[in-house]
Amino acid sequence: MGAKVYRFYCDYCNWKKITDGTDVKDTMNEYLTSPIPGGAPKLDEKTKKVITSKSIPQPRRFKCPQCGRLVFPKKITNPQEEMRLKQEALEREAAAEKERLSVMEEMKERAEKALEAENKAAKERTTWLSE
Ligand SMILES: [Zn+2]
Repeated sequence: MGAKVYRFYCDYCNWKKITDGTDVKDTMNEYLTSPIPGGAPKLDEKTKKVITSKSIPQPRRFKCPQCGRLVFPKKITNPQEEMRLKQEALEREAAAEKERLSVMEEMKERAEKALEAENKAAKERTTWLSE
């Protein structure tokens, strides 16, 4: 298995960073958050014991070093897969562009044929009139 990779991206200033997490402590300021309580304690009907709801862990958040806004690390589980998907998206775009061009080409061809047919018809009319 490869190393864990995280990506930070700031929506506000477009700052981005890809990291394996080891340099985050030294280069970024983390916002410390306390866990959110999961709700009121409940009483278990069978055991008559009080169940305290588990707290919900908060995602870690950091300060954007460029603009100070919040940035969240996004785990890239498979960098190769990510690259492949990006490549596929590019190829799809290129194929769509090619398709658009071929449609335009076809329309041009059709227009030329229509013009040719019209010219021919006009010529026939002229011939008929001059007889
Ligand atoms: Zn920023």
